[in-house]
Amino acid sequence: MMKNWHEESVEDVLSSLHSHMSGLQADEADRRLAEYGSNKLPEPCRPSPLRRFLAQFHNILIYVLLGAAAITTLLAHWVDTGVILAVVLINALIGYVQEGKAEKAMDAIRRMLAPRASVLREGVRRVVDGEAVVPGDLVLMEAGDKVPADLRLVKVHGLTIQEAILTGESIAVDKHTDPVAADSALGDRKCMAFSGTTVTSGQGMGVVVATGAHTEIGRISDLLAGVEALTTPLVQQMAVFAKWLTAFILAVAGLLLGFGYLVLELPFAELFMAVVGLSVAAIPEGLPAVLTITLAVGVQAMARRNAIVRRLPAIETLGSVSVICSDKTGTLTRNEMSVASVLGPRHLYRVDGTGYEPAGRFTSGGGAVTPPEHSPLEDLALAAVLCNDAELQNREGRWLVEGDPMEGALLAFAARAGLDRGEIRGRWARTDVIPFDSSHRFMATLNHDHEGSGRVFVKGAPETILAMCREQRGEAGAAASLDREDWLARAEAIAAEGQRVLALAARPMPAGHTVLEHEDIDGFLTLLGMVGLIDPPRDEAVAAVSECRSAGIRVKMITGDHATTAAAIGRQLGLDNPDKVLTGIDLDRLDDVQLAERVLDTDVFARTSPEHKLRLVMALQAHGLTVAMTGDGVNDAPALKRADAGIAMGRKGSEAAKEASELVLADDNFASITAAVREGRTVYANIKKVISWTLPTNAGEASTIILALLLGLTLPITPVQILWVNMITAVTLGIALAFEPSENDIMDRPPRPRGEPLLSGDLIWHIVLVAALFLGGVFGIYLYAVEQGYSIDLARTIAMNTLVTMEIFHLLFIRNMHSPKLGWRRLRGTRVLWFAIALVVVGQIAITYLPPMQGVFETEAIPSRDALLILAVGVVLFVIIELEKRLRLRLSKDVRASADVAGDDTTPIRD
Ligand code: ADP
Ligand code: MG
Repeated sequence: MMKNWHEESVEDVLSSLHSHMSGLQADEADRRLAEYGSNKLPEPCRPSPLRRFLAQFHNILIYVLLGAAAITTLLAHWVDTGVILAVVLINALIGYVQEGKAEKAMDAIRRMLAPRASVLREGVRRVVDGEAVVPGDLVLMEAGDKVPADLRLVKVHGLTIQEAILTGESIAVDKHTDPVAADSALGDRKCMAFSGTTVTSGQGMGVVVATGAHTEIGRISDLLAGVEALTTPLVQQMAVFAKWLTAFILAVAGLLLGFGYLVLELPFAELFMAVVGLSVAAIPEGLPAVLTITLAVGVQAMARRNAIVRRLPAIETLGSVSVICSDKTGTLTRNEMSVASVLGPRHLYRVDGTGYEPAGRFTSGGGAVTPPEHSPLEDLALAAVLCNDAELQNREGRWLVEGDPMEGALLAFAARAGLDRGEIRGRWARTDVIPFDSSHRFMATLNHDHEGSGRVFVKGAPETILAMCREQRGEAGAAASLDREDWLARAEAIAAEGQRVLALAARPMPAGHTVLEHEDIDGFLTLLGMVGLIDPPRDEAVAAVSECRSAGIRVKMITGDHATTAAAIGRQLGLDNPDKVLTGIDLDRLDDVQLAERVLDTDVFARTSPEHKLRLVMALQAHGLTVAMTGDGVNDAPALKRADAGIAMGRKGSEAAKEASELVLADDNFASITAAVREGRTVYANIKKVISWTLPTNAGEASTIILALLLGLTLPITPVQILWVNMITAVTLGIALAFEPSENDIMDRPPRPRGEPLLSGDLIWHIVLVAALFLGGVFGIYLYAVEQGYSIDLARTIAMNTLVTMEIFHLLFIRNMHSPKLGWRRLRGTRVLWFAIALVVVGQIAITYLPPMQGVFETEAIPSRDALLILAVGVVLFVIIELEKRLRLRLSKDVRASADVAGDDTTPIRD
């Protein structure tokens, strides 16, 4: 029976769940996990393996083949029937295995995105898998989190939750901890938080009352999301194209059958098989499956580079990204902060020390100082410890930070100043807090000691804090008047070194005052001083920025930090225009038209709020650019959604940000975005290669058959052989293209224009050229064999092997279809490639030389001299198309060069 948790008091709920305010014991949590099961919703039903296998036969061409098998049975052509059925079966098996692999890969990637939850266990905050949350657990939440289970709230601070998925109401609900009436509707149960809803602001803690299928969302079964299909718009487009092509080819085949039988009065059985052979030859039946595999391979490659794709179409978009807007802190910089300078009322102190270690030294004006002589340092350290949510831990001799690295740096600073964190936090209990928010840029806490005297501590951006201060702490401790201009100038000086400046302030509070409001601090604070934190750029980000430049991608840095700090970091990163900074205030002054004018040649945006990101995305998109935008907080969600590729941080990002984005970075690192773009370009290139390989092959085979039929010649390749070549050989070879690595210069080209047609003029020309060469090669060698007086079976065997050899050489060409030169690395190829080729060669040897196969496929052993000739035809094909390619690349380069001389601006950035 469901209990009405919402009408009970917090104490009653805790006691009936056998829990308390410091959370469960670890072993009790394990026991409950075993008893209640994992906290997950039942998986959506998936088709059974048998159904998935049968689905492989759901394809027009397969129906045609099965129909053909029925007719050959009627005609008592048992061998043909057997071959058709065997080929259909093997083809389905290949499809089934590949599809299964692709789906497994996608599942593994989905698991990488499993949500995590913060819980209090044995009084300590822990981050656990969302699935490991059990009834009785105390869950901690903050803005951007997804509620992991149904909770009865026990503590809230400005907590609002968006419950649209349950109630349909899109306005966030203010939560409290008081019980509500038993018959309240779901949306009115303000002391509850429900699984799957999103925290939009504030903080809160709740005790878990239901998990998994017992939660409110678990009971609405039709909400369960289905499994996302493995496809992108481009691949879908190709699938539709393949369907129409199939319909067209079948119509032509039907006409040919009617014409040949009724008008030319050809014998039905033979004509019928020829027409089936034609259909098999012309229809690119393997194409959609190979494209799907290409996508799956790309998704996996991205995951290996720490970029996890949430929505598949993103792979395509990433390949065409022309501008990347990135957060600074933690993405372009290391987010390993340390306090390097301290501004006291009079002195500038420098701090030495590595990482988060407590050991370090203070100097001022060249001489060492110890904090007790310099009481400003001690006061700053006290505020730094108390207005702080982080914790430092020593694990195996290494000091690690739990929480915000900047706050960790403040703790290390306090430890270097000689403060005992544990003792101070024990003495000054926190009564209330205003959490940090990137739009108001400060954080405040209210603390009371055992005697009941209270104090407010505030830290935040210098301008914000100075505006809230009334006075400053004097050198000796007494209050002194505040010179704002002087402080701003001193802050500016350390910001120019690339340091992030943070001001700290305090005010006393009476004992009875236990609730902290904005009004309590604004105008009443005493400035204690400021600290400057260094956070060096990541080395790999510097490299990635220059890679972006050569790839024609602009990089824009968007930060909440101060303009001077941002410009200094931008310079260290090697951005194009680091010194032309637009701040949030500037942005507010510009209208959309003015912003669009300035946005292209500004690379650094400082003191921005999340709302500005949305405007920047739209301004860039107005120039026709494909925009990638990073984000982590709940307020970044609109910009992430609007961007062409929204990218969320996997570590510090909120669930809300991840849900709004296409891509999640497992390591929060800018370099991973560039890696994802590279993979995105590679996938697109490989999709193109698969298509460029498949379509000319089909066209070449089909034209061979049509020509033979029209000229009334015997077919140079029998329909059964065509079946073998197309449905076994071609699928095996085609798959190798899905695994092609990036071409060397893939990041030296400008981004692909949006909406570039896949069947470009170049590709159509390639189809025509290769089809013609195939036709010439196959017919030529067939006629040569007939000339030699070979039997028709031998001539056909030679023709068929020539066809396969040409396919292999065409494949070798396609791998490098964009590269003007063939480096050794490119020529060497992948293991998959050589495996596929080896497999096909073995297959061809079997079909040519093994007596049982010879019987079925009507083949004869080829003399070695002719085998060499076949190889030579392949090589000639390769040389011709390779030369043609070089000529074409050279010509287009000359055209481009002369355009450049004419002063044409062909940089892809401007439109
Ligand atoms: P970024 O884009 O660099 O991550 P944020 O929006 O996180 O910038 O921070 C903007 C400014 O807010 C910082 O420069 C700093 O002055 C202030 N700030 C950042 N984090 C905190 C915090 N936890 N407490 C108080 N102030 C903060
Ligand atoms: Mg930040």
